[in-house]
Amino acid sequence: MQAANQPNGQPTLSDLEQKDAFVARHIGPSTAEQNAMLQALDVDSLDALIEQTVPESIRVPAPINLPSSRTEEEVLAYLKAVAGKNQINRSMIGMGYTDTITPNVILRNVLENPGWYTAYTPYQPEVSQGRLEALLNYQQMVLDLTGLDLANASLLDEATAASEAMTLCKRMAKAKKANAFLIDSNVHPQSISVIETRAEPLGYEVIVGDLNELVDQHEFFGVLAQYPGTTGEINDYAELIDKVHAKKALFCAAADIMSLVLLKSPGELGADVVFGSAQRFGVPMGFGGPHAAFFATRDAYKRSVPGRIIGVSIDARGKQALRMAMQTREQHIRREKATSNICTAQVLLANMAAFYAIYHGPEGLKTIAGRIHRLADILATGLQSKGTELANDTWFDTLTLNLGDKRDAVYDAALAAGINLRKNGNDQLGITFDERSDREAVEALWTAILGENHGLDLDAIDAELSANGSSSIPAAMQRESAILTHPVFNSYHSETEMLRYLKKLENKDISLTHSMIALGSCTMKLNATAEMIPVTWPEFANLHPFAPMDQAQGYKQMIDELEEMLCAITGFDAICMQPNSGAQGEYAGLLAIRNFHQANGDAHRNICLIPTSAHGTNPASAALADMKVVLVKCDDKGNVDIDDMRAKAEEHKDDLSCLMITYPSTHGVYEEGIKEICQIVHDNGGQVYMDGANLNAQVAVSQPAAIGADVSHMNLHKTFCIPHGGGGPGMGPIGVAAHLAPFVANHPVQQIDGPKATNGAVSAAPWGSASILPITYVYIALMGENGLRLATENALLNANYLSTKLGEHYPVLYTGRNNRVAHECIIDIRPLKETSGITEEDVAKRLMDFGFHAPTMSFPVAGTLMIEPTESESKAELDRFIDAMVQIREEIRQVESGEMDADSNPLKHAPHTLEDLIDPEWDRKYDRAQGPFPIPALKESKIWPTVNRIDNVYGDRNLFCSCIPVEAYAED
Ligand SMILES: *Cc1c(COP(=O)(O)O)cnc(C)c1O
Repeated sequence: MQAANQPNGQPTLSDLEQKDAFVARHIGPSTAEQNAMLQALDVDSLDALIEQTVPESIRVPAPINLPSSRTEEEVLAYLKAVAGKNQINRSMIGMGYTDTITPNVILRNVLENPGWYTAYTPYQPEVSQGRLEALLNYQQMVLDLTGLDLANASLLDEATAASEAMTLCKRMAKAKKANAFLIDSNVHPQSISVIETRAEPLGYEVIVGDLNELVDQHEFFGVLAQYPGTTGEINDYAELIDKVHAKKALFCAAADIMSLVLLKSPGELGADVVFGSAQRFGVPMGFGGPHAAFFATRDAYKRSVPGRIIGVSIDARGKQALRMAMQTREQHIRREKATSNICTAQVLLANMAAFYAIYHGPEGLKTIAGRIHRLADILATGLQSKGTELANDTWFDTLTLNLGDKRDAVYDAALAAGINLRKNGNDQLGITFDERSDREAVEALWTAILGENHGLDLDAIDAELSANGSSSIPAAMQRESAILTHPVFNSYHSETEMLRYLKKLENKDISLTHSMIALGSCTMKLNATAEMIPVTWPEFANLHPFAPMDQAQGYKQMIDELEEMLCAITGFDAICMQPNSGAQGEYAGLLAIRNFHQANGDAHRNICLIPTSAHGTNPASAALADMKVVLVKCDDKGNVDIDDMRAKAEEHKDDLSCLMITYPSTHGVYEEGIKEICQIVHDNGGQVYMDGANLNAQVAVSQPAAIGADVSHMNLHKTFCIPHGGGGPGMGPIGVAAHLAPFVANHPVQQIDGPKATNGAVSAAPWGSASILPITYVYIALMGENGLRLATENALLNANYLSTKLGEHYPVLYTGRNNRVAHECIIDIRPLKETSGITEEDVAKRLMDFGFHAPTMSFPVAGTLMIEPTESESKAELDRFIDAMVQIREEIRQVESGEMDADSNPLKHAPHTLEDLIDPEWDRKYDRAQGPFPIPALKESKIWPTVNRIDNVYGDRNLFCSCIPVEAYAED
């Protein structure tokens, strides 16, 4: 463009550069919309709204020392350069992480597809049938491969699954007096560490050694072995399992999912619990995660299984429909009676693993597993023919070589050839094959181990193995049972079929690609495309978590810089990146507090004060950290009752460990007394744990550390843009004040600078689910300090606009100063139930007819809806939601007045499906079209729930958690 003779008053170049262009993309309301909403609230500016809403005493002055905003181009280019400092070798380290090939149809249409990754946990099953079916497939796949009866829909990682297996054994084993859990030395070291961390507060004794000896020497409630072992061997545990059962204890197997394609299942050997990682079914290693852990056990233990289980139920038309089984139990995580605190799991990755199995099918998987095994056989046969000694004489994919004093030289030679191996002990080397392994790898390893002139002929060895077979998987250990016989695993092997199946499921669900999901406490904000892009860069995706640190310098820099940014935001001195969910952050933070008290000679401090309004994970985490929960009352305004709190703190001052408190409160208000509350805890010798789920109402306006917290987790999948993935992944790093920094988790394999080296791990990987950290990094970098402050301000603006507008039609339960709410508000449906019989569930289901996902139902107060719009929703979208809620209120009014029938009305029958529309026997007392089309705008764009209202009770009474039996298909 020619710019001759510019008149005065034109923008400068820096105006035109639009460095903060992203900020206006992330924040939903335009300036004009913001002004209109401010006007509706009768305030002049965002600043004035903050003045009115956020107590002066907790505000922090700008700047908090974050860089200013940058463009998408700039941030991605910078991060690409950082990622380039990671060196991607061929990874043959094993230890529970192997390279894999994500089928591109799954990569693009699931992992990189907001239709899948922005969905919420399927608490509203009528608009979640797609991902519920995917998860049911996952459970079926796990059942087939493990040989057990019941599987859950994922845990966080193999090591935390191991600790859940231990606690299940303690609950279910008949050996009630026994207090020891035995672990074979062939279990991955990170799993042993996480188990030891979990066992210590619970008072269990963990004994590691040779199981064959240990079982005769101890009384125990459970045992754990790795199958195949961490160094590769395949043991037949059948006899050992009999011995364990004779002692009334349970046997757990940590199993490799790919090996199970070829090996006799642990279930067939008699194992009671089988768990492991589903990573190598198409999910990148990602420097430690996220990946789904699987967990299967006997039907008899179903009420004791941690995590979510998908079950089959029926809908109002008697049609088969899926839902989370025992959902009510899950939702409250059983509070202080909890046995597990798992909330966010790994849904997106579990789905990917199931899709991998569906795409390849049983034959495809056998080919892949067979190829991996053959490569290991060829390498081993060649080495043995040249006199190299193997530590294991059975294997699936892992060989351990006894190399004596040659070991380090061989390791270095492999490294020089671009291959990472595992150093084991002083003289052993571990080699693990995977889906990406090939002939070149075998040749390169022969050369590294035997020298250039090894003279081995790969094809000749292969021909001989092919002709004569190998004994590396003993005949008795070979799988004879069929796997994956269900039609779903045998129908979608062409890319066209697969693509359509993925789309079919996706189209059944509501995600952020359709409409706002105003889930209080869950902060379903924009997950910007630019934030997602680095996750699947090979430089981040393909690194093993235990790769030598000099190959992970890109990760190190990214994590260091992110920690610095999170410290600036929270005011803390250090960050522990290990916890891979909010609840795991709580647990990790409480352990740090526990360790701190112990170091000060205060081991007896074990009382944890928790307000009654707390999320269920809080008391659950406290129970895991061996704390005794003392509940603190809330007053009728929803605030912590400070008098009650002071009385309890003083009563327990000699053994007070800490307070767990959410801020702003789960009631959606900034409590004025929060600093006083923290002071009371400190005065009585306790520490303050702040549940950071509501950090979106604090960023760049307030800080947990400045308020008085000693430790707090950040739900990066809420405030910091990691998408919910349909129920995971997440990340829950904790920020700590300096005095707690030495007491946070470390890692037995990859040491972390800062915490004491002897501290145990809380997750399998040193930096948790590291590969999704770039999402948070990019978000903060794009927004910069000013953008983040604007985000917080707009989150408050949107919430207050909603609460004001909805307040004209529904009672708003709690407000803070000047009648303002924080970033979310609770509307009370209980009074309407009194007058109309309409419940919060009816309202939630009716919203589906308008194309909306319901807000959070009955948390933190039963009979209410908690609405959190976030800053990313425009005024136009908020108005659409308000219109729907107003129309619903009008329908309730008609029920109240008797104009509409009390039972046969669109609220009680919601949601409506196409089947309702074509039902030849319409006998309801309202117009047929009023069901699915309450407002005309829906005729232009309509989301159809695919099932009618699901029977909550039926599914739990008739618990059925696998795919429909194959015979049922045959009958059709
Ligand atoms: C989401 C949430 C948690 C639990 O976090 P997860 O990441 O799901 O484990 C804890 N407390 C509150 C208030 C929450 O909203």
